[in-house]
Amino acid sequence: MKRIAVIGGGAAGFMAAITAKEHEPKANVVILEKGDKTLSKVKISGGGRCNVTNACFNISDLCKNYPRGGGQLKKSFGHFYTKDTIEWFNKRGVELHTEKDNRMFPISNQSQTIIDCLQSEIKKLGIRLSLKSPVSKITIENNDFTLAVNKESLSFDKLIIACGGSPKISGLKWLQELGYVVADPVPSLFTFNMPTESIKELMGVVAPNVSIKTQGSKQKQNGPLLITHWGMSGPAILKISAFEARTLAHLNYQFKVQVNWSDLSEKDCLEKIGEQGNKKISKNPFELPNRLWLFLLKKIDINSESTWNQLGKKNKNRLINVLMNDVYEVSGKTTFKEEFVTCGGVSLSNINMQTMESKLHAGIYFAGEILDIDGVTGGFNFQAAWTTGFLAGKNSAS
Ligand SMILES: Cc1cc2nc3c(=O)[nH]c(=O)nc-3n(C[C@H](O)[C@H](O)[C@H](O)COP(=O)(O)OP(=O)(O)OC[C@H]3O[C@@H](n4cnc5c(N)ncnc54)[C@H](O)[C@@H]3O)c2cc1C
Repeated sequence: MKRIAVIGGGAAGFMAAITAKEHEPKANVVILEKGDKTLSKVKISGGGRCNVTNACFNISDLCKNYPRGGGQLKKSFGHFYTKDTIEWFNKRGVELHTEKDNRMFPISNQSQTIIDCLQSEIKKLGIRLSLKSPVSKITIENNDFTLAVNKESLSFDKLIIACGGSPKISGLKWLQELGYVVADPVPSLFTFNMPTESIKELMGVVAPNVSIKTQGSKQKQNGPLLITHWGMSGPAILKISAFEARTLAHLNYQFKVQVNWSDLSEKDCLEKIGEQGNKKISKNPFELPNRLWLFLLKKIDINSESTWNQLGKKNKNRLINVLMNDVYEVSGKTTFKEEFVTCGGVSLSNINMQTMESKLHAGIYFAGEILDIDGVTGGFNFQAAWTTGFLAGKNSAS
């Protein structure tokens, strides 16, 4: 009887164990979890609602949401992607609903629904769950894997490593010792602190569609921007924190951002200004929240009570500059409580992305956040866990 061990009782580990057992019902499948409970991240995910996946059904578009791993995941998504996740949960009695921004949640809006589903599947299939079982070492001999778990040595034919991200490189040393290339872990998905910027007085204001970049970078991100009492947050900021996670860590989170508040070109801005005639400047034509508009006018000393046709050339230029290239100083970051991930982990150059099998050791498979894969917020991180978990489970069983 084939013995398969899954290291880690998170989303990826459960998906891998269930898929392995379904493909090879005679196999002896065990989940080894170091903690005293499983699926802890699923529980707190999406503010307790669990953003399971995203209603993005085009694989090329889906891949663009992964600052690391997007290109390589294309191969894996060809086997199991967002549509398969929805079907997988549907088949097991969990219906998902889609929100305006394409995020998908269980219709109960409770992460416990996902936990109940995964836990009842492992019970039904007879998968063994061993809690308080930290794996501290893997020894490889011929085609046999021996795991050091507490004071015991346990032997298996196949291994699925799904033990999640590690915030420190020291947590991945045991894999480096086996020869795996590991990308240094740094945080991804965080908000920006701006202790010296007075824009914080507008906390709660949302600019609906900004284009933003860090100074010196060419990469722009678009989307809503939320002003908070500590600085800036919202989808546009979170995307920058993800796509530039490594650069920003290198800068020790001291940098400047450049905001284009309405994502218009200079020509469009000038055209809009030209259309205003003798209307008052306090009425903004750029569809910005009024508090933000008045803040920007004050910042460049333009009297909001004057009219547009009183605006001289110099002030027009200053206005266009503050609308399109408004600079703010960032000093530090704050964790985004709804979702955060680790950038870094086991290099995908060591993995066959069609099967999730290690290229270094036949019979070892990887799944989930332990890999150097991470997505922006929106259900993409769980999707990577479901996809890689499914492939690792299926191929370990075959
Ligand atoms: C607050 C928060 C909210 C989030 N919300 C969302 C969301 O709504 N949507 C989304 O897509 N993503 C979300 N994410 C990201 C998502 O939770 C992770 O990407 C995903 O859980 C990764 O799954 P995993 O199974 O790879 O790792 P994990 O969930 O971290 O599971 C790994 C498991 O392995 C165990 N383990 C570790 N080392 C060992 C060892 N040596 N031996 C045995 N067991 C071990 C751990 O205890 C853990 O239980 C959120 C993350 C956080 C922190």
